[in-house]
Amino acid sequence: MTAWGPNVTAIPDNRHITLIGAGLAGAVLATLLVQRGWRVDVYEKRGDPRVQGYGGGRSINLALAERGRHALRLAGADDAVMKHAVMMRGRMVHFLDGRTDLQRYGRDDSEVIWSVHRGELNVVLLDIAERAGARLHFDRGLSNVDFDARIAMFTDPRDGSTHQVAFESLVGADGAGSALRSAMTKQVDLGERTESLGHSYKELEIPPARDGSFSIEPNALHIWPRGRYMCIALPNDERTFTVTLFLPNEGDPSFATVRTGHDARALFERDFADALPLIPDLEQDFERNPTGILATLYLDRWHLDGRAVLLGDAAHAMVPFHGQGMNCAFEDCVALAEQLDAQPDRAAAFAAFQADRLPNARAIQQMALENYLEMRDRVDDDDYLLQRALERELAQRHPDRFMPRYAMVTFHRIPYARAFERGRQQRDLLVDLTRGHASLDTLDWNVVDAAVRERLSPLPVDA
Ligand SMILES: Cc1cc2nc3c(=O)[nH]c(=O)nc-3n(C[C@H](O)[C@H](O)[C@H](O)COP(=O)(O)OP(=O)(O)OC[C@H]3O[C@@H](n4cnc5c(N)ncnc54)[C@H](O)[C@@H]3O)c2cc1C
Repeated sequence: MTAWGPNVTAIPDNRHITLIGAGLAGAVLATLLVQRGWRVDVYEKRGDPRVQGYGGGRSINLALAERGRHALRLAGADDAVMKHAVMMRGRMVHFLDGRTDLQRYGRDDSEVIWSVHRGELNVVLLDIAERAGARLHFDRGLSNVDFDARIAMFTDPRDGSTHQVAFESLVGADGAGSALRSAMTKQVDLGERTESLGHSYKELEIPPARDGSFSIEPNALHIWPRGRYMCIALPNDERTFTVTLFLPNEGDPSFATVRTGHDARALFERDFADALPLIPDLEQDFERNPTGILATLYLDRWHLDGRAVLLGDAAHAMVPFHGQGMNCAFEDCVALAEQLDAQPDRAAAFAAFQADRLPNARAIQQMALENYLEMRDRVDDDDYLLQRALERELAQRHPDRFMPRYAMVTFHRIPYARAFERGRQQRDLLVDLTRGHASLDTLDWNVVDAAVRERLSPLPVDA
């Protein structure tokens, strides 16, 4: 590297790219680009988690699905990640009276999702990116950008020192609070708006049982649906579960009324009685762990000609109820790497990337919002259960025409926007066919089959 005047590192060449953020998307994108012959420098605000431990501060574990796994396979990371993953076959619903019911996500164990630990995942992905040849720079938080001079300013959070780096293009993989997005906004109107969900979350922990095993069924995503609020729990490979309590910000109960560990215990005694004995440090966890906010970020524009582009949460943060934020971010990485190869220049690549991905991001953002209602309020509702039973039946009778929306999103890579539209048609059909029925036994299958053939065109063969 050469220096451009005092304190400016120069890296000008047409196969170089500068990534901001070495989180989940940053690490995957770095690997994909290096594989394609790009020289990649990645700047990360935090210290190296491989040296000082992971200090992510939010959502300890995540559900990994097919879109994410596809990107990981392309990056050569799937095997290493899957060593730490725990299979989740379906939702284990915990009713108020203590009954439980496993609602499978897919047809069999080929259609499941995987719980991965965010910190472990990040460490594995960073190792792979570095081994591939990406240069990682930790303790470098983007603080400002001079887009005319193409110089990015970074601050070292340890001592406040500043560092200037020349760039050809910046890619913002710096998450929901993206500093690159803020810098771009000073140049061009991105049409940014954030819609708060009005609900927040708190993480708690279920430790292993006395004999070291999982203390509840490990191969499931546990849900305690309670109408306006809910708890979920995902397994970790060290045999713990991370429990997430989702509550509204206002009303009763809410984070306004459940303020202390003592309040949390009272809520659990009343509404999550079977979970309470599993969480011995409930009070401490509740008081020590931060309350996370939930919001959807919409932008109309993701790039500044060929100089900067946003992806992942920086471009389209979503609520977590479809378990797709990371999966979508990984899919973005593949799409951007492909466009950078396919288009004549970076501006064209960034524009094509936005045109392809923005409608899909909007669709999964909407589906994630809809899933919150479904998870907390509908998984124990009779109409919903009947529609799901018919959905499973139709998926078997007409595999070429009927695929549950959850499956399209989770087990396939059908573009989100197409899955959203198709899901709408299928839901209307299910509502029409089950109207006035309390069980599948009273349905006339000739009528049902004819309606499927008439209203649903054959599905495209999966991408
Ligand atoms: C409670 C919760 C549960 C979730 N569950 C799931 C799930 O089950 N499945 C799923 O697919 N998704 C899930 N998500 C979403 C998922 O966490 C995000 O979509 C994903 O982390 C996005 O990846 P990213 O790389 O874009 O951003 P991040 O993972 O946030 O990474 C951004 C990186 O940029 C760094 N950075 C920030 N600012 C700067 C700066 N100024 N300069 C340099 N670096 C900077 C950060 O330190 C970080 O390392 C969940 C989210 C939440 C909140």
